[in-house]
Amino acid sequence: MSPDSPESLLDLVALPGSRRLRFAPSPTGQLHIGNVRTALLSYCLTGNEGRFLVRIEDTDRERYRPEAVPENLATLAWLGLAWDEGPDIGGPCDPYIESERLHYYRAAADRLLDVGAAYPCFCSRERLEELRAAQRAAGLPTRYDGRCRTMPQAESQAAIAGGADHVVRLRMPPGQSRWEDLVLGPQEFQNEEIDDQILIKSDGFPTYHLAQVVDDHLMGITHVVRGVEWVPSTPKHLAVYAALGWEAPALAHVPLVLGPDHKKLAKRHGAMAVSEYREMGYLPEALANFLAFLGWSPGTEEEIFSLAELRSRMSFERLQSSPAIFDQPRLDYLNGVWIRRLAVSDLAKRLAEFLPQATSEQLTEIAAMVQERIRRLDEVPALLEFAFNEPSPTVELLRGQLTPEAARQFLKLADPLLDGDLEELMERLKEAEAGSLPEDAKQAKQRFKECMQVLRVAITGQRVSPPLPESISLIGREAAHRRIAMAIEQLAQTA
Ligand code: GLU
Repeated sequence: MSPDSPESLLDLVALPGSRRLRFAPSPTGQLHIGNVRTALLSYCLTGNEGRFLVRIEDTDRERYRPEAVPENLATLAWLGLAWDEGPDIGGPCDPYIESERLHYYRAAADRLLDVGAAYPCFCSRERLEELRAAQRAAGLPTRYDGRCRTMPQAESQAAIAGGADHVVRLRMPPGQSRWEDLVLGPQEFQNEEIDDQILIKSDGFPTYHLAQVVDDHLMGITHVVRGVEWVPSTPKHLAVYAALGWEAPALAHVPLVLGPDHKKLAKRHGAMAVSEYREMGYLPEALANFLAFLGWSPGTEEEIFSLAELRSRMSFERLQSSPAIFDQPRLDYLNGVWIRRLAVSDLAKRLAEFLPQATSEQLTEIAAMVQERIRRLDEVPALLEFAFNEPSPTVELLRGQLTPEAARQFLKLADPLLDGDLEELMERLKEAEAGSLPEDAKQAKQRFKECMQVLRVAITGQRVSPPLPESISLIGREAAHRRIAMAIEQLAQTA
């Protein structure tokens, strides 16, 4: 046999890794929560001894978007799902882009045609559309009626030689398809209910169904983790494996991710591109932690896991078969936990994209100020608005519960106190204020709170801000005095 003959193309070579799992995005757009959940589970289930592959399934030329390839890879990299083999880094199964592997699919289709497990189909698009319309009108499931299934080989070969447009269809064998799903347990389908799937389209490209069988085999994939929506297609894939004399990998179909209303996850729930989560200030650590629980549970009360811990701990046995519910408050909670786990210097770096106007010293100061109070990084620009723009609060906002005159008096009292040690600012303010008011303790406390709000609004323009001493140090005392002076003037005009 010559080394390029179709047979040798389909021979499996020894490949590294005790387990080999893959994530195989179709570059039709950005990766969504459902996609990356599968990617994350595959990455973790690969374990530390295995190899995780990324393969680009770009054989649907109508939906293909070239920019999606780098976008998808960037999303996986951002989440920390480092791949051992893939389109950008190559590997023993090069290439990892399906449109560059057409010769493999052609060889597989030829072998399927040779053994009679597939047949050419010449039915026109119009005929198939009419067929589907008639089936729909009769309330029947839409499927190919098998017209070309029994065409004599001589006839079909002559038609192909004559240049007739055709596809290659799988000849679904009689009997049942069975497999032991690692998540769903034993599965059984009656093959007669399954369509003769198109394997090679008239443009010469394979469909997903053929390409992924060929690639999973040649890439030595040991376990396939994918969404439950693929279950109805699995009998077709098993028929292709069997006809080619190949062993199918172990299959794990993970349940759907549903919204809190138990309906299919939609944009209103968070079925958004992962890049949008990044823009909203979720940390990849938190998102990975969150995604892992959309399909897996450790079987304990533990809830905080790093990606490395997930990879060491995750097993097929603990994958969940019931639908996962997308719970945004939980993601927010986990994000807060992960924000607080970061070193201040690391948080400062991550805040840079949210506060492009801040210097690195400011970012470090800001990180320390906000670390305990935020759940998402995108809360920071609003919280820190005052540091970069001069605030202009209304008198109403300034005085809060106090009269304009009382508010003004307090600001006059507070102003010189800013010049001492800022760490003790609160104490000094409290003393100064208490001396001026002989009320009972409870009233005094309440009043002090209101006074502090006046000062906070004067300096930051906001009723919610990071702690005052830090806020003052961030903008500098000079700016703080200036803002207080402006507020005093503003209050005097209404007093
Ligand atoms: N390309 C398919 C998708 O994006 C992959 C399905 C599979 O994992 O087999 O859904």
